[in-house]
Amino acid sequence: MKKEQKEERRETKRANQARIAQMILEAGAISKNELAERLGFSMPTVLQHVKGLVESGYVTESGEYGSTGGRKAKLLSVVGDMGFAAGMDITENHISYVLVDLQRELIKRAKIRLPFSQSFSYYEAMGNWLQVFLEQAGVERGKILGIGISLPGIVDSREKLLVHSHVLHAENMSFKRFEGLVGYPCEADSDAGGAAYAELAGEEKDAVYLSLNDTVGGALYLNQKWYTGSDSQSARFGHMVIEKNGRPCYCRGKGCLDAYCSARALRGEDKNLEEFFEKVRARETGYRRRLEEYLDSLALAVAQLHILFGCDIVLGGQAAGYLRDFQRELDRRVAEYDRLDSDTSFFRIGKCGAEASAYGMAIRFVNRFFKEL
Ligand SMILES: [Zn+2]
Repeated sequence: MKKEQKEERRETKRANQARIAQMILEAGAISKNELAERLGFSMPTVLQHVKGLVESGYVTESGEYGSTGGRKAKLLSVVGDMGFAAGMDITENHISYVLVDLQRELIKRAKIRLPFSQSFSYYEAMGNWLQVFLEQAGVERGKILGIGISLPGIVDSREKLLVHSHVLHAENMSFKRFEGLVGYPCEADSDAGGAAYAELAGEEKDAVYLSLNDTVGGALYLNQKWYTGSDSQSARFGHMVIEKNGRPCYCRGKGCLDAYCSARALRGEDKNLEEFFEKVRARETGYRRRLEEYLDSLALAVAQLHILFGCDIVLGGQAAGYLRDFQRELDRRVAEYDRLDSDTSFFRIGKCGAEASAYGMAIRFVNRFFKEL
C-alpha cells in the first residue's frame, strides 16, 4: 500500500472515531446499535472505535434500556471528570466564572466583584481569582482543556483581542498576555458570540442571534458555521438605524437600535432590570409605556432581520429572559412589521440563562476536544 493511502486510511479512521465520540457526547447516552444506525457505520466499525474510546477512559458503558424484553443494551456515555473547561464573562464591575466537565455539565459557578480596568493588574486579579475558583473545584491542572473569555464589545477572536468596548471604555486589549500569565490555552469572543454558541452550536438550522445586553450585539450562524465577516465586523446589529435622526447613540450616530433596545435603554435610571419590571408590575406611571416602546423597537428589529436573512431569529442577553411574559405582544408587533409573513414562529427567546456567555465560551473547548480526538 502506498504511503499516501495508508495516511488517508489513518485519517479516515481518526475522523470516524471523532464522529462516534461526538455522537455519544450529543446523545448523552446511546447504545452501539443506535450509534451504527445514526452514523451509517457498520457494527464492526462501531465496536472497534468504542473499544478504543472506552480504553482511553473518555467513554464508559453504563445503564440499561427500559424493560421491553429481550437482552438489555448497555448505554455509552462520556466520562465527565476526564476533562474540564472554564468560561469567564467580563462585565464593567464583575467577572462570572463557570466550570464545565466533559459532558458539558455546568458543575461550578462563581461571581466576583472586580471593576474593569485596562491594566496589567486587572489581568493579574482575573488570573488569581481563576486560580482560586479552579482550586476550590478541586480540578487537576492537567485536566483543564482551556479558558474561554467573553467580553462586552467587538472582539477579534483570532488575535484574542478586544478591539473596542463601549461598556468597558477599552480599546485594543490583548488577552495573549493573560494567556501567558495563567498558562492555560485561552480564547476570547464577544458576549454575544459566547451566548450564541451556547444557544446554537450543533444546530442544523441557520439562525440570527440578537443579544440584548447593556449594548446590543449579535452573531450569525449560517450553514452550521459562524459568519464573522471581514475583521469580525458582521452582526453589529446595535448600529442598525431604526429611526432616522432618532435617539443619540454612543457611536455618535442617531437612531441606532442600541439606543432603543439595549438592556440599559430599557431599565433607564433603574439599577437593574429586576427593579424595572417590578415597577411595570406595580403599574408605576410611565413604566408600561417605556416597555411598550421597547417591545415595538425590538419587534421592528426582529422583522428587519427576518426580512434580511429569512431564517430563525433568536433573542438572548440579559433582557431576553424578562421578555418571555410579553412574547404574545412581541409576536403581534413582529407580524405587523413583517407584512409578507404573518407566521412569527421563526422567532424565539433563547433558552440559555444569565451564564450563557461564559458557558458558551467553556463548551467550545469540550466540543473541539471531541472533534480532534
Ligand atoms: Zn450606533
